Amino acid sequence: RKCLSRIRETRFLNAYITVSEDKALKQAEESEKRYEKGRALGILDGIPIAIKDNFSTAGIETTCASHMLKGYIPPYNATVVQKLLDQGAVLLGKTNLDEFAMGSGSTDGIFGPVRNPWSYSRQYREKRKPNHHRVDEDSNWLITGGSSGGSAAAVSAFTCFAALGSDTGGSTRNPAALCGLVGLKPTYGLVSRYGLIPLVNSMDVPGILTRCVDDAAIVLGILAGHDVKDSTTTQDPVGPFILPILRDVSKLCIGIPKEYHTPGLSSETQALWSKAADLFESKGAKVVEVSLPHTSYSIVCYHVLCTAEVASNMARFDGLEYGHRCNVNVSTEAMYAATRREGFNDVVRGRILSGNFFLLKENYDDYFVKAQKVRRLIANDFVKVFNSGVDILLTPTTLSDAVPYVEFIKEDNRTRSAQGDIFTQSVNMAGLPAINVPMALSSQGLPVGLQLIGRAFSDQQLLTVARWFE
Ligand code: GLN
Repeated sequence: RKCLSRIRETRFLNAYITVSEDKALKQAEESEKRYEKGRALGILDGIPIAIKDNFSTAGIETTCASHMLKGYIPPYNATVVQKLLDQGAVLLGKTNLDEFAMGSGSTDGIFGPVRNPWSYSRQYREKRKPNHHRVDEDSNWLITGGSSGGSAAAVSAFTCFAALGSDTGGSTRNPAALCGLVGLKPTYGLVSRYGLIPLVNSMDVPGILTRCVDDAAIVLGILAGHDVKDSTTTQDPVGPFILPILRDVSKLCIGIPKEYHTPGLSSETQALWSKAADLFESKGAKVVEVSLPHTSYSIVCYHVLCTAEVASNMARFDGLEYGHRCNVNVSTEAMYAATRREGFNDVVRGRILSGNFFLLKENYDDYFVKAQKVRRLIANDFVKVFNSGVDILLTPTTLSDAVPYVEFIKEDNRTRSAQGDIFTQSVNMAGLPAINVPMALSSQGLPVGLQLIGRAFSDQQLLTVARWFE
């Protein structure tokens, strides 16, 4: 009940699209009964959580923040949602995002942008200079980052204890960094995507947003493992994700990718990154500079592969099976076209168009096939670094701390979700686990996070080091 009233108090953040209050109260009551009767409890029994609105939830509207799916009520739960419910978690509602998770601001969904709770924090307000924009002026609130900004705001504003996001190119780690949270992107194939409405099937992973590393490990322990409904999930035993206390980091080798010193990186984030490397070194870890030579191609490579997969994924939204259908009925084709024009925003339509362009017969080899080759080179860069003895890579997560909404939307909405993903996207192309760990507050009083990246299926080690580091 406290969480539900907190949701009401913080409604202005626009973190939730749907609050499933009645269902949540019923789940909480059942949990209480189990407790009173001394029955076996699940790992998350009675713990309120939130789910990004691109995961299917049985009986609860699932919109992807798009007109296309408004009113769509899935008949089944995503595997990850079912696993959380099976452990007694109380599902409070569905959180806001960029339409179909395309973006990195949580500003482009049909329900409007999500506000970063830190816009209203004492730390931020006190640090702002007099006469500078005042945060209580409506126009000066900050973005959460995205696209899982609703989930990040929900956890950061204390409306729930954990939330699911999705991470295709950084969408869990990016808002975690800007909202001061732990944001975990597990290894591709460790967690089932069944019921996660796809953006880029070959890169999508359910992500976990929590306030500390231990909580993320608990949730990962519940979610991880083979799912017969997702053939890309590993059949190997996973877990247990019970983190040993790491006292000695002297056997660790930490890599600092030199290509990540990009021009757009803020001097404060840069300074914090160096400080963190020094910390590892002062505690005995070996810190080495490494090279990921294909980094500069990652944004364009991601763009070609992402939009190509988007073009084929979005073909299912034709006005027949799901959600929206327009009133045009002169022909089937006219109905498809009008439905899709009405249903998708310009970001989604733009990606469908560019994806179809890359997939045209005459372009296929020059764009799609070439991008797949570049993706392999990007993935191999990481493999080489890890094979050279590096255990973990330490990098920034975002270029800077959160920016005001009015600044963010000045850029064209197709470019604004690109450059800022420089530290996160190649990780998805390589399928590796990575985590944002909140590190410090900037001079503006806003959270800054750093990213740790591990080798494939080293999620346990990654979390262990992240906990030492947090
Ligand atoms: N910002 C990236 C994009 O727009 C990543 C999104 C995501 O991870 N869902 O595609």
